[in-house]
Amino acid sequence: MARASSTGDAGARCSRLSLHLRHSFTIARSSEDVAECVVYELSAGGHVGLGECAPSGRYEESPDLVAAQLGEVELSGLDLFRIDAVLARMAPDRRGAMCALDIALHDLAGKRLGAPVYRLLGLDPEAAKQTSFTIGIADIDTMVAKAREAAHMPILKVKVGVGREVETLEALRSVYRGRIRIDANEGWEPETAVKVLGELARFDIEFCEQPVAAGKPERMRFVRERSKIPVFADESCRIPSDVAMLAGCVDGIVIKLVKCGGIREAMAMIHIARALGMRIMIGCMIESSILATAGALLTPLVDYADLDGPLLVTDDPYEGVAFDGAQLRLADEPGLGVRLRAAAPT
Ligand code: MG
Repeated sequence: MARASSTGDAGARCSRLSLHLRHSFTIARSSEDVAECVVYELSAGGHVGLGECAPSGRYEESPDLVAAQLGEVELSGLDLFRIDAVLARMAPDRRGAMCALDIALHDLAGKRLGAPVYRLLGLDPEAAKQTSFTIGIADIDTMVAKAREAAHMPILKVKVGVGREVETLEALRSVYRGRIRIDANEGWEPETAVKVLGELARFDIEFCEQPVAAGKPERMRFVRERSKIPVFADESCRIPSDVAMLAGCVDGIVIKLVKCGGIREAMAMIHIARALGMRIMIGCMIESSILATAGALLTPLVDYADLDGPLLVTDDPYEGVAFDGAQLRLADEPGLGVRLRAAAPT
């Protein structure tokens, strides 16, 4: 684990975290072997709250930018239990930094009160969901081999959007009978999306994330109205105000804490989406168990989970949410229930 560039004062500290992927992670627009995250530690009352941001170039964020934004937050004199008031110190366009601060504030509050965050939020940990397991884009033989390795997982999420989708799904379906979701990461034009989804419907696809570019909800509506496979918005649906604009254009949305700004903004999105009759998935980036645990504790409120980030990396220094196969299990411990692993991997 790489730590550097400490910032902040009086109980707040930022450090960099490099997470190495088991396999190169390729989606329709990019490929990566190392994910650079930012860990934020907030100290008060003898406890340390942990937060994390997995900055996304898709949203013009970098680890340096997020760390600098976190270092600018003035916390002295604030009551850190007043989470909304503290978060109001963060400019609303700084979603990644807001996420790290929001998660650290919740973890700290839980630790100081001696209660799990899910209990503070009134949530039932028994209702946590099963996560999907992601198969990144590769040649078809490699994707089939990964699906065989993941045969014990009941749900796969298959990255698509660069062509050969029918051959790929046909090959995967020949070795895997569980639930399959697909994610095109904005990879298709609307007409292409309609054509490809029409051909893929026979492979029993649960839903397709973000078939077309974000920015114009009507493009999503065009695809949804012509597809038997339900359409979910991910890149199109970043923050609470995006949800209402997608009403009628999609079947569901994907919420990620690091896109929207943390637990509180995610809960706002959940309430808006429910009021509009949308289905909801909590998703993740390539991230450590800090972010994944914060996402997992909200899954009792939603329909689906895609929180396999810690399973995709070799050197997550933290442990938190447990993976009982695909079933997410939350610890009955104060705060997030995240701690450094006893023997950190090298
Ligand atoms: Mg996605």
